[in-house]
Amino acid sequence: MTETTPRLEAIGLTRRFGGIEVVRDVSLDVPAGQVSCLLGPSGCGKSTMLRIIAGVDRQDKGAVRIEGRTVSDDHVQVPPERRSVGLMFQDFALFPHLSVAGNVGFGLKGPRDEIAARVREQLDKVNLAGFAEKYPHELSGGEQQRVALARALAPRPRIMLMDEPFSGLDNRLRDEIRDETLSVLKAEGTAVLLVTHEPDEAMRMADEILLMRRGRIVQRGAPYNIYNAPVDKEAAAFFSDINVIHGVVKNMQTETPFGRFLTPGMVDGTDVEIIIRPQHLKMDFDRGGKGPNPTSTDGVPARAVVERARFMGSESLVEFRMEFDGSQIKATVPAVFLPAPGTPLWLSIRRDRCFVMPCKRQTTVADPYAG
Ligand code: ADP
Ligand code: MG
Repeated sequence: MTETTPRLEAIGLTRRFGGIEVVRDVSLDVPAGQVSCLLGPSGCGKSTMLRIIAGVDRQDKGAVRIEGRTVSDDHVQVPPERRSVGLMFQDFALFPHLSVAGNVGFGLKGPRDEIAARVREQLDKVNLAGFAEKYPHELSGGEQQRVALARALAPRPRIMLMDEPFSGLDNRLRDEIRDETLSVLKAEGTAVLLVTHEPDEAMRMADEILLMRRGRIVQRGAPYNIYNAPVDKEAAAFFSDINVIHGVVKNMQTETPFGRFLTPGMVDGTDVEIIIRPQHLKMDFDRGGKGPNPTSTDGVPARAVVERARFMGSESLVEFRMEFDGSQIKATVPAVFLPAPGTPLWLSIRRDRCFVMPCKRQTTVADPYAG
């Protein structure tokens, strides 16, 4: 093994159930000290991936390597307990008849005093030093979760596989436990593969997000890049509400109520969708003296009428109907802003925040700029 050998590698994993490929040719690698996050909607194949890597399920095609050693392929199948992999699943059942110390020490091998020392060390790490003699039913949900983490880390796994491990916790507690878990795992330098269907969790935890859909990884990258440069509309929509503005390419440009968009390399007649997240719209009471510079960064303000405004706690969400074509647009601002329904406002969109993507032909909306 060299320093650049990933801790964990999956190579071309494919898994079929009843003739359907639920995991299709998926490859990934996780270096030491990195948290990679398999993110995708329910049923896209995340848990299946994790189960194959853990060794509790077997792929139909492909291989799994741990620190350069093949633990699973067409010929080899190393059992789960010999893969140096820690597991934390959604329903992380603690043994109810064992104390906290008994749970954390379960499965550790070696002299008693060494095991006891290891258990103490682990409980310290998760801030449960005084809890060794308690039983699971005496603990809160968060404390149980921390015991489960201590138990998973006690055998010093080189890799940690986590399947929606925080989903049983309520919101406030969840953030706290996530952060604690992350700092413990980082301190250990463990390679982590975390499965979740929640974008917020992935954004919060991951160094790298592997966005999964229908058995495939459709995009991988740092959270910032995945959020700001989605591969397609579905990827954009997975992280927030989106607004979609339709247009047709003419002379390498697309005309919209928000001004002209450059669409270089797209042939005339191509249907495009301009996608913008609600927080990247700007609302103004007037046209703001913006001259007729249809290609400037801020584009052209377009008139819209407020339909509904709601205060959401950290932001206000305002829903508009565009005067131009009656389409709906959502915008958010990080403040209290609750204009009355019927209020006309001017909306503009930041060019550098839009995603312009070709799409299949729209059959419904008439194009007012046509002809
Ligand atoms: P996720 O974890 O992303 O929600 P899963 O990996 O659990 O998705 O499941 C992916 C697909 O494979 C689902 O359609 C699920 O019903 C199917 N599946 C998973 N495990 C089995 C199994 N043992 N037998 C049959 N189908 C399965
Ligand atoms: Mg799952």
